[in-house]
Amino acid sequence: MLATETRTYRLGEFHKFEGGGRQFLYLVPAGAIFEVDEGVAAVIGALSAGEAQFDDLLATLSDRGYAFDDASELLREMLFSRAIVTGEPAPEPVESAPAKFPLQSLVMNLTNQCNLACTYCYEFGEDKVATPEGKPKFMDIETAKASVDFLLKESEGRKSIHITFFGGETLMNFPLLKEVVAYASDKAASQDRFIDFSLTTNATLLTPTIIQFLSDNSIGVTVSMDGPPELHDKLRVFANGRGSYDIIEPRVKALIQGHRTRPITARVTLTNGVTDVIRIYRHLKNELGFAEVGFAPVTTSPDRLYAINEKGMGGVLEQFKLLADEYLEHALRGELHGFSNVSETLGELYQGVNKSHPCGAALGLLGVGPSGDIAPCHRFVDSDTHSLGNISTGVDREKQKDFLDRGHIGAKYDCHSCFARPLCAGGCHHEAFVRYGDTGHANLHFCDWIREWTDTCLRIFGTISAQNPGFLEQFAHRKGLD
Ligand code: SF4
Ligand code: SF4
Repeated sequence: MLATETRTYRLGEFHKFEGGGRQFLYLVPAGAIFEVDEGVAAVIGALSAGEAQFDDLLATLSDRGYAFDDASELLREMLFSRAIVTGEPAPEPVESAPAKFPLQSLVMNLTNQCNLACTYCYEFGEDKVATPEGKPKFMDIETAKASVDFLLKESEGRKSIHITFFGGETLMNFPLLKEVVAYASDKAASQDRFIDFSLTTNATLLTPTIIQFLSDNSIGVTVSMDGPPELHDKLRVFANGRGSYDIIEPRVKALIQGHRTRPITARVTLTNGVTDVIRIYRHLKNELGFAEVGFAPVTTSPDRLYAINEKGMGGVLEQFKLLADEYLEHALRGELHGFSNVSETLGELYQGVNKSHPCGAALGLLGVGPSGDIAPCHRFVDSDTHSLGNISTGVDREKQKDFLDRGHIGAKYDCHSCFARPLCAGGCHHEAFVRYGDTGHANLHFCDWIREWTDTCLRIFGTISAQNPGFLEQFAHRKGLD
């Protein structure tokens, strides 16, 4: 930037927020956070009515005691971070999805069978997309080995990769899981690479032997559980309608006690009547001892009885905010809190995440079903409509490209002026399909909710960075983000 600068400047696209008594900008096109000091505030003030010339901005800063070099440097920084921009408003660049992206994670649905009949299940419930008729119910060892080989080949260049075991109920095919862990670990080691494992389970089939195996092999475990018995048993039931809480409670306690190598996480599905977030959190975290508890509203058409309406979601948000404040108090004391909805977003903000797609589905992550059919993620497994090929023949690159092009943030025009888009990117492809019949549709039904929650997380992040920045560094280190 030179003294002869003649361009006009205007404000870039940002969301202003406050944290710990300081002001910050969330710079949307970059997904970055910028602290507002006196000089930045003066430049924003000078541009709030429209455009200004370089000399005018320089004069504004000079009035506040800035030397020419310091003022130029500040304007250069603001320009670089796109807090301010020059010229005409430029449309957001719409990049196509990368033609080939090395795989990071494979979700292996070891079976499409389940011993529970949870009313809201996306796999078996009224909104299911799977078409499992005529396909194997359990994955066999040949398909499993071919899936591992596929992951190793498609992830070339990555030192560390991941397998998540999923179902149905994953542990209904525990013998295969054991074989896959042995096969994949050996194969990865022979290539001087590392493979990490996790699984999701309803906990009904956990035994001391299985718990020992999971602990010995450092396998991460997420338990699907919806809170204390009167809430959990509303929808997490066996086929005869009997609740599953009594069966899983002792098993979950044994898992938490016996699994010594990884913290155990609970994943709660919120539904109409099961929205008492704080009570559920206290039960799962304090009474049962889960390390982390994460919540997600049920994915469903809005007319299902268990769908949460707008008022219900408002109540969820208020409780999320209370737990987020509790999270903040812990962080300012240097302590961990187990509300993973905050941890996840803090991690993304720390990394400056700016998503082209809402998640890794069909990008760094693929799902594979018992038949070997490849899907964008576990939720699309066994769906003929969404199949991206088969493990025996490989990925259908055209179908994958179509899925990714439609799901790209550039194709979601409703999102282009939304400050939450670096993190949301239009929301889950599966939810979009269930709601709108199109995996590439933006999930526009709870946008205000998403924006308010994003603002809450930004405030938490800003306050921690102002009052206990060391926590963020430790947090990032623990999560492997640094
Ligand atoms: S879906 Fe809604 S909240 Fe998400 S980025 Fe798009 S407009 Fe924003
Ligand atoms: S499409 Fe939805 S369910 Fe699948 S990985 Fe993405 S966010 Fe998760």
